[in-house]
Amino acid sequence: MTVSVILNQKGREIVTLLPEARLGDAVAKLAEKRIGAIVVVDAAMAVEGIISERDVVRLLGERGVSALDEPLSAVMTHAVVTCTPEETIPVIMERMTRGRFRHVPVVSGDKLAGIISIGDVVKFRVEEMERESAQLRDYIMSA
Ligand code: AMP
Repeated sequence: MTVSVILNQKGREIVTLLPEARLGDAVAKLAEKRIGAIVVVDAAMAVEGIISERDVVRLLGERGVSALDEPLSAVMTHAVVTCTPEETIPVIMERMTRGRFRHVPVVSGDKLAGIISIGDVVKFRVEEMERESAQLRDYIMSA
């Protein structure tokens, strides 16, 4: 099963900001959209960075409210681990576990094409396990 299957199910709306936006803008957007991370892109939708709620908490703890005025370019994670729509879900799970992050932007031809969160992956896995156990039950009943 591939990343594109999840994107087809959940839709391809992606919340983004430009690197010039302020941390305060990211906080407002995280709250408004009820999400955990925002992908920072350039004008051509190429991925420049990512800022997650974990970064916000750390920055506020370290620097106080003045951090909210910082541009995202100064506080975001620059080395973003991405995936492509053709990659499989177990590969993405492994990537999240190794990197200890809960969001993976999906990139197609150098442009942002979606985002997969740990919640999406868990939902997919639970549904897959339910399907498998239903198939096993049917098999046993028909034997
Ligand atoms: P998260 O678990 O997604 O809230 O992120 C935890 C930390 O990893 C934060 O510092 C994020 O900026 C960073 N992070 C989140 N997603 C990625 C990613 N795909 N690639 C690299 N860093 C990430």
